[in-house]
Amino acid sequence: MGNFYENLDKRQFIPYGRQWIDEDDIKAVVEVLKSDYLTTGPKISEFEKKLTDYTGAKHCAAISNGTAALHAACFAAGIGIGDEVITSPITFAASANCALYVGAKPVFADIDPETYNIDPKDIERKITKRTKAIIPVHFTGQPCDMDAITDLAKKYGLIVIEDGAHALGAEYKGKKAGTISDMTTFSFHPVKHITTGEGGAILTNSREYYEKMIMFRSHGITRDEDKLTGNEGSWYYEQQFLGYNYRMTDIQAALGISQMDKLDGFLEKRRNYADTYNNAFKDIDEIVVPFQMANTMSAWHLYIIQLKLEKLRVGRKEIFNELKKRNIGVNVHYIPVYYHPYYRKLGYDKGLCPNAEKLYDRMITLPLFPKMSIQDIEYVIENVVEIIDRYKK
Ligand SMILES: *Cc1c(COP(=O)(O)O)cnc(C)c1O
Repeated sequence: MGNFYENLDKRQFIPYGRQWIDEDDIKAVVEVLKSDYLTTGPKISEFEKKLTDYTGAKHCAAISNGTAALHAACFAAGIGIGDEVITSPITFAASANCALYVGAKPVFADIDPETYNIDPKDIERKITKRTKAIIPVHFTGQPCDMDAITDLAKKYGLIVIEDGAHALGAEYKGKKAGTISDMTTFSFHPVKHITTGEGGAILTNSREYYEKMIMFRSHGITRDEDKLTGNEGSWYYEQQFLGYNYRMTDIQAALGISQMDKLDGFLEKRRNYADTYNNAFKDIDEIVVPFQMANTMSAWHLYIIQLKLEKLRVGRKEIFNELKKRNIGVNVHYIPVYYHPYYRKLGYDKGLCPNAEKLYDRMITLPLFPKMSIQDIEYVIENVVEIIDRYKK
């Protein structure tokens, strides 16, 4: 035991997620730095084509980050003041903030206690005359029940924007995330499947949404002759609505292109490691391992265990701190969005989504990223097993 704890000090901290950058990535970025275009050059459309080729979606708009992607999608969908947008509380705040950006009201539907994804039955209960869109989040990388959500959207005339920040490469009934609903947004933050530093994209099959988002990311400006209301010369362009500067740089796009070549390899590693965790934990009575829906293939952005607190002598916090002490970068994804003080000030109260709140009290995210070694995975497993064994009733 003494040796074990001494060695701990020397053990490198394992974060819950991180990027994998290799020499090819660095070379791709350096080439852009030596070229004519640092931004809005040829690398942007090349990166966009990589994403449409990979997923099978018709159009892709690269954008400055995943949050801007959600904002652009809400704008393109025509969501505005007086509208309501239904999303999950178990997500990063950006999935709900995007509704606020365009003046709409986020409405939270509870999660399914098995998949942790938004529950279509609760979506239907939360639909009102003002509901304009649903933003399902493919939490941890597992696709939501998109057939049920698509049926609701048809029945009530709603737009569906998938927050696919966890789901690049995920599949629902043989279709890649990004091809299923009106629009799907992605993030290329370093903890996500591929990275561009900061970065995002929206995939859509709609030419109309795509064209709006292309203008939205660049101030609402167009130079497209078919769209101009006049033409005073070859310098001429028009700002037709209020957009933002949400452009991605060519430096980032070059990194993204290079990273896309490795995506399938990254996904395979994530899936293998998730399987290793599942096998190690599935027979432990005090832990719930992630349930996977039939007909879906998760992209495994996150690996989450749920603690059966009724079978443990200590709370989640003690187990969490014990793992952290051993240099394991555990995390909690997520604090229900409406728990945040900003949302409380807007009038949201605890108690809104009981399944989400129960999961929040019991969940721990374990490290999962392709650059981990199998020894890292085994180290996490050993420690989880040992700690649970120590604290079980
Ligand atoms: C990461 C993330 C975002 C935001 O992406 P950024 O690129 O960090 O702006 C949005 N939604 C979810 C679910 C995310 O995990």
